[in-house]
Amino acid sequence: ALTAGIVGLPNVGKSTLFNAITQAGAESANYPFCTIDPNVGIVEVPDDRLNKLTELVKPKKTIPTAFEFTDIAGIVEGASKGEGLGNQFLSHIRQVDAICHVVRCFQDDNITHVSGKINPIDDIEIINLELILADLETVNKRYERVEKLARQKDKEAVAEFNVMKKLKEGLEAEKPARSLEFTYEQMKYVKQLHLLTSKSVLYVANVSEDEITAPDANENVQKVKAYAAEENAEVIVVCAKIEAEIAELDQEEKEMYLEELGIPESGLDQLIKATYELLGLATYFTAGEQEVRAWTFRKGIKAPQAAGIIHSDFERGFIRAETVSYEDLAQNGSMAQAREKGKVRLEGKDYIVEDGDVIHFRFNV
Ligand code: GDP
Repeated sequence: ALTAGIVGLPNVGKSTLFNAITQAGAESANYPFCTIDPNVGIVEVPDDRLNKLTELVKPKKTIPTAFEFTDIAGIVEGASKGEGLGNQFLSHIRQVDAICHVVRCFQDDNITHVSGKINPIDDIEIINLELILADLETVNKRYERVEKLARQKDKEAVAEFNVMKKLKEGLEAEKPARSLEFTYEQMKYVKQLHLLTSKSVLYVANVSEDEITAPDANENVQKVKAYAAEENAEVIVVCAKIEAEIAELDQEEKEMYLEELGIPESGLDQLIKATYELLGLATYFTAGEQEVRAWTFRKGIKAPQAAGIIHSDFERGFIRAETVSYEDLAQNGSMAQAREKGKVRLEGKDYIVEDGDVIHFRFNV
């Protein structure tokens, strides 16, 4: 399963946020494919469409889909020098598919900041620099190897060498690999290096309790937004402390509390949705009288593979996917109506599943 890692300097609110994630926690019994590990938190993906489908179909039960956040432990500064806990930090990042980088924007004189004052850009760069240095080491090794082959005019090696050169120069200028542009052909060489700075990132600006309703008044939030914009990265504003409180409430209490605070959606829910997107994930639904359920798939897969997410037998014996888009189903009020209007399609094995598809798989046993 794809997972996002939560990183950040000490005392920025990572554990508080991670606790909110595990508290709000999904029941792992529903998600046998998820990891059982104290550093992994399973979150359910909030999705209004699932609620609407439940109203329409009135099933016995409704099951949201879920994915994982990993709390990344270890020591950041000096990590690229490759000692002990720092090494662990890098190897944990290597295992995740995207990064949620928590940045401290809250003021609290009782809580020390590792470098003495709140400076979100310096903080971001401390971590990014460690990742860049680790990548530079990876690239340099490959660079030296292909350089020799490229001198012998091996065509493939010359192409790869050009990519290594561009990566080396970019990283030396302290630019993350994801900010460099490569052609589709060149990406093959970049991908095989599994660079840390190739992973997609979003920034999580952690603000004080009293700032959550108007976070843009916080100049640190502004700075993080400007920095992220340069990288085409997204920023989610949360108050980790409030999220930890919200996580202990039930749905109704949560809605009341959010209304009281004057915010339409909790920061954690926004973070979950943005991270899902960042991981390249999307949702399709199955809707029967027994169960209405959301399923996570990686964008771009075809119908048989999507069927295989439910059960490997569905993939093996795949015949057709009876498919209607969520919008068409919601507009027509029922499957029967949608069918009458010709909105239900019979898709074959080459169909590329889309976000929001409501699917009934037909298969041979
Ligand atoms: P970590 O080291 O990054 O995991 O940081 P923690 O989650 O342990 O938080 C460090 C301290 O900051 C704790 O005392 C938290 O209660 C406090 N803290 C975290 N988030 C907030 C916040 O949004 N507002 C305030 N005032 N304090 C926070």
